[in-house]
This record gives sequence, structure tokens and C-alpha cells, in this order.
Amino acid sequence: MKKNIFKTILITSITISISAFLMSSFIIYNQAIEKVKMVVFNHASTLKEILDNNPSYLTQNNLQSNLRITLIDKEGFVLYDNFVDTKNLDNHLLREEVQEAINNKQGYSIRDSNTTNTKYIYFATILKNNNIIRVSYEFNTLSDNLKVQIILVFLVIVILLIICLIFSSYKINQIIKPINTLDLQNPLNNKTYPELRELLESLETHNNLRKEFSANVSHELKTPLTSISGYAEIMANNIAKIEDHQSISKKIYDEAQRLLEKINNIIKISKLDENKVDTDFTQINYKNLILEIVNNLQSLINKNNLKLELELEEITGNGISSLIFDAIYNIIQNSIKYNKPNGLIKIKLHQLDNNIYIRIKDTGIGIDKEEIPRIFERFYRVDKSRSQIIEGSGLGLAISKHAILLHNGKINVYSKINEGSTFEIIIPK
Ligand code: ADP
Repeated sequence: MKKNIFKTILITSITISISAFLMSSFIIYNQAIEKVKMVVFNHASTLKEILDNNPSYLTQNNLQSNLRITLIDKEGFVLYDNFVDTKNLDNHLLREEVQEAINNKQGYSIRDSNTTNTKYIYFATILKNNNIIRVSYEFNTLSDNLKVQIILVFLVIVILLIICLIFSSYKINQIIKPINTLDLQNPLNNKTYPELRELLESLETHNNLRKEFSANVSHELKTPLTSISGYAEIMANNIAKIEDHQSISKKIYDEAQRLLEKINNIIKISKLDENKVDTDFTQINYKNLILEIVNNLQSLINKNNLKLELELEEITGNGISSLIFDAIYNIIQNSIKYNKPNGLIKIKLHQLDNNIYIRIKDTGIGIDKEEIPRIFERFYRVDKSRSQIIEGSGLGLAISKHAILLHNGKINVYSKINEGSTFEIIIPK
């Protein structure tokens, strides 16, 4: 995070610095040119005034000037030049600034001198006698001055950039420090940025859920373990009669099985939470899957003397097989567990549009309307006293919901107390 913020500031500062440097160089350059233009203009205007009164002023006086001064007649012949011998000069009629002066009385140009091969700023103006006086400034002198100014600007910008980066790095550390020293065990005790409030609140909720989960897990495991321990103690102390040994061992075995099932469910929900589930999507034959589940639960169905009606279409769909298996298994198992003796279970599998529908209907004890939204919560069991009789951990539906949501599906519940419940699983194909 620190690196990213610093990188962003670095890139932004460098971009701003380069732009600032280019802009100031452009402004400095243009201002310098404007200044030189003024100098050559003023000089030329003064000379024009003098020459209009005294056309031979230049040839009479030996002018000492660091500006090049050229007098050109209307045919373009150079009459006077203080830098170059006029004999060496060709006709100047077609020079840009001369043409402009002939047409518009005055003319500027910035170009390489045909005579000296250096860059000049030229200003030419026409005299009363139609001759042209031209004043020029050697550009190299100008660029030397410019170079110094531009280097200065560059140095100032580099120094500012370094100061800005040092300050940013200090400020980033200062901003990050309270985040690094957050007390994550007690999120709401932190006095930190208001922007982090929401995150800390959700962390607090998460911590509480974790604590609650651990407490529930311990509680769920304690009951069968206490039974196992009690029965085992009886056996160890030789208190039980020989003829009871078998039934006590069976009880220990049943409790151990119950414990194993609970642990398996806890592992499943934890894996779903951590997204550590098998993520292999395969083609699932839903009819076969349901038949396999029913087969697994057949002894429980028989034990409760329940009637089973199946209406299964031949449907295949893409999904994570183990998760879909668990999701449907838990709901069918509930329709057996929470049914009434001699009750009925109807399972229907069909497809509508691009969705797979699995409807599991029982004639069991039903669920109170207010309880329906809560039955998918972890460890939630509708009637605690009744739940003591019917085996379960309250994790089955939480696992089913999680697994179906992972397939972008949903579970609907319709139930009436004492009449029965219908669970409808909808999974996109
Ligand atoms: P459990 O292990 O207790 O069965 P579940 O998560 O599968 O846990 O179900 C949560 C609770 O929802 C159950 O304890 C039960 O009270 C209620 N329930 C679930 N399915 C049915 C059903 N078909 N009929 C009546 N009650 C049900």
C-alpha cells in the first residue's frame, strides 16, 4: 500500500514537474524573444527617425553596436552593414523581413542568416526614401542567456520535487502508522480514522461470529462426548451387567457416529467459509444423484415407516458434485427426520427454462412462519426441546444454502405447522 501510494505520488510529481519545466521554458523563451523584438524594434525606429532626416547618417558615422544594422535600397542592394563588408553581400530584396517591410512598412523574421549562417531575429522598416533599415540580433547570445535561466528553473523544479517526495514519504508513514498498529482483537476500541469505522465494525461482527461459532462447536461436541465418556466409564468400572455390555457398546458406537457426523458438518461449513471446497465443475446427472441419496437414506425411511414418491426427469447440469450432493442430502434427510410416522415424502426433479428444480415435500411437523428465515442460520434449531429428541446439529441447512448459493441458485421454503414443508432448490443449468 505504502509503495503504491508513493509510486502514484512519484509519477504525478514527475509529470507535474516535467509539465511545469516545459511550460516555464516556453514562457521564458517567448518572453526573451519579445524582449529582443522590442530592442530591435526600438533601435530600428530610432534609426528610421534619424535616417529620414539624414539619409547618409550611417555611412558618415562609424556605428559601434552589438546589433547588426543593415541599410538596403528599394532594389535590394545592401548600402551599409556594420558586421559584414557590403561587397560580400548579395541582393537582399527577397529576404522575408524585407519583403514584409516593402508590403506592410515593417517586418519581423527569425531565421538563419544567409550571410553569417547563424540564427538572427530581424526587424526591418521602410524609410521615407523607400530604402529599408534592418536591425538584427544574434540568436545565439539570446539562447546562452536562455540556457542559464532554463537550467535554473530545472534545478528549482528538481529541488522542489525532492522536497515533495521526502515530505510525501514522511506523511505516508505518518498516515499508515495508526493502521499498522490497529488492535484487531478489539476493533471498536481503536481511535482511528472515521473512514475505517465500517471496516472495524464488520471485523467486530466477524470476531463475534467466530467466537459464537467456537462456542457452538464446543457445545455440540460436548453432548455426545459426555455420553460416550459416561458409558465408557460404566464399562471401565465393571458396573454394567454382562448382558448389558452389547447395548452399552452400541450406544457408545451410535454416539461416536453422531459425533463424527457433527464434526464432518463443522468441517464442511468451515471449508465453505474459507472457499476451500472442491471447485471442479462436472456434468451432474441429477436423477442418479437423487436416487443415490435416497438409497443412502433408505433404512431411515423404512425405520420411520415413510412412503416415498419420486417423479424424476432425466436432467444433467454443470455443478460441483460433492456440494450439490450435500445440499440435496441434508434437505431430504430433514424431510425424513421431521416427518410424522407413516408420513409421505414427494421428490420431484424437473427443468423449467434454463433452471433445474428439485422439490422435496414432506407431511411432517412443519415450521412456524416466523422461524423460516432463521432455519438457514448456523446451529439454529427450531424447537430446542424437540430437537433433543430429533438428531441434528443445526448445520445441515446452512451447508445446503451455502452450497446452492455457490452455484448461483436459491432455496425456497413453504411450510405450514403440523401439515408439512416443501423445500424447493433452484439451480441455473
Ligand atoms: P438440523 O441438524 O437440526 O436438522 P438443519 O440446519 O438441517 O439442522 O435444520 C435447521 C432446523 O430447521 C431444524 O432443526 C428444524 O427445526 C428445522 N427444519 C428443517 N427442515 C425441516 C422440515 N422438513 N420440517 C420441519 N422442520 C425442519
